[in-house]
Amino acid sequence: MCSTLLHKGTIEAIDARRRAFIWTGDITCSGGQCKAAWELVCWDRARGGLGIKRLDLQNKGLLSKFVDKLLQAPTTNWQKWFHLMYGDGAGRDLGDTHHLDTAIWTTLRQLIPNFRRCTKVHLGSGQFTSFWFDHWIGPQPLADLFPALLSFCPRPNITVAHAYLQDQWIIPLHPRLTSVTSSQLSAILLALANVALLPHVPDRRGIGVDLQPFSSRGFYLWHMEQRPNDGFADCIWSNAAIPRCKHFLWLVHHNRLPSAALLHHRCIVESTLCQYCGAYEDQDHLLLRCPLARGLLNYIGWNIAPHLTSFRELWDLPYFSDEASPRTRSTIITAVLWNVWKARNSVVFSSLFPTAADTRLAILQDLRLWSIRMRSPSDKAYLHEWCSTFDVN
Ligand SMILES: [Zn+2]
Repeated sequence: MCSTLLHKGTIEAIDARRRAFIWTGDITCSGGQCKAAWELVCWDRARGGLGIKRLDLQNKGLLSKFVDKLLQAPTTNWQKWFHLMYGDGAGRDLGDTHHLDTAIWTTLRQLIPNFRRCTKVHLGSGQFTSFWFDHWIGPQPLADLFPALLSFCPRPNITVAHAYLQDQWIIPLHPRLTSVTSSQLSAILLALANVALLPHVPDRRGIGVDLQPFSSRGFYLWHMEQRPNDGFADCIWSNAAIPRCKHFLWLVHHNRLPSAALLHHRCIVESTLCQYCGAYEDQDHLLLRCPLARGLLNYIGWNIAPHLTSFRELWDLPYFSDEASPRTRSTIITAVLWNVWKARNSVVFSSLFPTAADTRLAILQDLRLWSIRMRSPSDKAYLHEWCSTFDVN
């Protein structure tokens, strides 16, 4: 992982095993058994995924530590050797391609663009900062802001220091600029007018607003941040339910619960109808509107629940006092949904028809067991109190 770039096929083979283990506990699985896309599974939990690590990102993050060391003043022999072979010593800019490039350098060179995208530079001498591709002036690299002018530059990998000669900016460009590129050049020179290099101060490169030193963890987190936070994630993971039930709630959140409608869509079953009532069985029918679910919800006093448009609205129901923490609330709702799902499965797979009283008892048993996992004494007390009231009713 930290010495060579893993081949795409190798990562796919390892991921196939990981995917099979997650969905079936076996060494192989078919596409129909995968309940959610692997890409979704690999996002952080806070961003809607299951938090399974992406091997390709881990691999690139570890290797990028070499790139980080190459883009600083060389102090060790191997850094000096790379600069001698592939940088100034060979009469070219670090990052240029050459037909005699070794496989190791080709690998590292491929990682440079991604490395530059996730890092920013506080400019010093400009010796190891790419003029076009680094974040060093403005919100974006100059290559993104002025692509037309870049196409006229014969040295795309030029450093900032190389473009600043004798106290003035001289960008190497092919002759005969178009009107667009001429105006872009004027804009760049105007932006650079007040920028001066500090020859004896090294460039400071890092990740994030406060330029944290580069690390493979920072690299991984930066890529995760490209996806917005999932507002429902806390309801799933800040929860005293057992992991299996949290994963169940995660599937429900992503509308991946294997209802008849979803299984029919995947060509696994022929009918889309509910085996209990004969209506079209999608996820919301199964959990809220099926007479099997509705009977239970009415029995426990959640009369509004069958009329909700989404299961997420359960979190807004007025059935919990202000003392109920979000964690307690999520735990109780998870127990209810989980046991509705189990009751439905009893009908489908065992031809058993549990009554609302049976399901209520199962909910109580689950909650009393899960209360052991509650860390906060007040949460635990509220859950016990809720269970007692629930038991009497
Ligand atoms: Zn039904």
